[in-house]
Amino acid sequence: MNSTLYSLIGLAAGVAFILALKGLSHPKTARRGNLIGAFGATVATLSVFLYVTPSHGEEVGHSLPLHNFWWILGAIAVGLIIGVPAARKVEMTQMPQLVALFNGVGGGAAALVAIVEYLNLGAEATTAEVIFTVFTVVVGCVSFSGSIITFMKLQELMTTRPVVFPGGRFVIAGTLAAVLGTSVWVVAALGTTPLLVLAVLSLLFGVLFVLPVGGADVPIVISLLNAFTGLTVAASGYVLSSTLLIIAGTLVGASGTILTRLMAEAMGRSLFGTLFGAFTAKPQEASGSAEERPVRSGSADDVAILLNYARRVVIVPGFGLAVAQAQHTVRELADLMISKGIDVAYGIHPVAGRMPGHMNVLLAEANVPYDQLAEMDEVNPTFGQTDVAIVIGANDVVNPAAQTTPGCPIYGMPILEVNHASNIIFLKRSMRPGFAGIENELLYDPKTMLLFGDAKASLTKVVSALKAL
Ligand code: NDP
Repeated sequence: MNSTLYSLIGLAAGVAFILALKGLSHPKTARRGNLIGAFGATVATLSVFLYVTPSHGEEVGHSLPLHNFWWILGAIAVGLIIGVPAARKVEMTQMPQLVALFNGVGGGAAALVAIVEYLNLGAEATTAEVIFTVFTVVVGCVSFSGSIITFMKLQELMTTRPVVFPGGRFVIAGTLAAVLGTSVWVVAALGTTPLLVLAVLSLLFGVLFVLPVGGADVPIVISLLNAFTGLTVAASGYVLSSTLLIIAGTLVGASGTILTRLMAEAMGRSLFGTLFGAFTAKPQEASGSAEERPVRSGSADDVAILLNYARRVVIVPGFGLAVAQAQHTVRELADLMISKGIDVAYGIHPVAGRMPGHMNVLLAEANVPYDQLAEMDEVNPTFGQTDVAIVIGANDVVNPAAQTTPGCPIYGMPILEVNHASNIIFLKRSMRPGFAGIENELLYDPKTMLLFGDAKASLTKVVSALKAL
């Protein structure tokens, strides 16, 4: 294959990535967008093998020699053996962890490639190449270790609360200064040792950077690290003279940055506050024993009676709906209420669940009509005229502490204001808090009724009880 054809294939793959992003911007076209992106990536990967000459290892025509052919195939095989079953088996609720992990591995790979390329170029490296190498190593390593910490937080392998320790802000500032100083050292002195020191310091900085981020702000950080990985890929594209990597990396960097901004806005956060707010916040004490305070719990029949006499009901889905896989049952309940002449809407919070758009994807799976879904800004003014807000497996996104308790991890995040509805029903299994790990006063509100149990089992009982009325 000659280099013009190779470049044209690269361009076509770049166009496929752009079309993929366009498709991903709407639930109806998202699946097709994903397939177009996967097609572009496959073509781009295969074209590398056709462009190079594996058999002789020498330059032929415009082609380049491909060294380590079997190592590369071996690495692809290992990736497939681990990646394909992981992606197939993963539960929808574990998707963000998988994305965080894949994203981190991407950043780490870009950093490793940059280090190897730097060693290959040796003294021939231009200053621009060294600067791009330094950038790739720093941002790639931060993205790698930061993503591992977000993975551990999301998988609840460690606390989801901000990890703040005395003098933390000085340690992180010192590490950042060391990273910057070592970067200058690499550019000025060249050599392997400074680059490896830089990699280690950047890994440490990635950990310190993410540890203080509180539970509810983790989605913003995942998106930011994703944007970082895009930038590292673009920078390694410069070092490797690969236009395709530059296009793909820039697309990921730009879309990740836009998503980060949108999510920060949706949560009423400044990006700076999200990343560094925990340094000024006091560590929160764990919530006290919730079971000691009285709550009003009811049965499925009680809930059905309340719904039967309601004129307007707003369903608020959250992470627990995804865990219980109750999307089809909730639709059954909504359809039943609509058939009884009740006005029903779903109130969708931008960070409900564990990934952006989680509730939209979940409800689309059950073919819930889009016109029944109401965004937060649209539904909030209607809670005053809502007879029943039924909160299914959601907690943080309706927690009034976000408005009333300065210093709590979700303070300032806009919430679905179910507290303004005449009656509130919570479907959950216990008094345990949500992802941010903070208690929800609304559970003790006199107008709240709790229906304990798995959301799917509870909804099935409510549907039967409502049918019988
Ligand atoms: P929360 O995590 O606040 O609450 C989930 C609730 O679901 C819990 O109260 C839990 O209570 C209940 N639950 C769990 N399993 C079941 C089940 N099988 N049946 C019934 N109830 C169940 O979820 P929200 O959606 O309200 O908020 C999302 C949180 O996740 C926010 O803090 C957000 O910042 C964070 N986050 C969001 C991401 C995103 O991009 N959307 C990504 C990462 C984090 P119990 O155990 O008692 O049943």
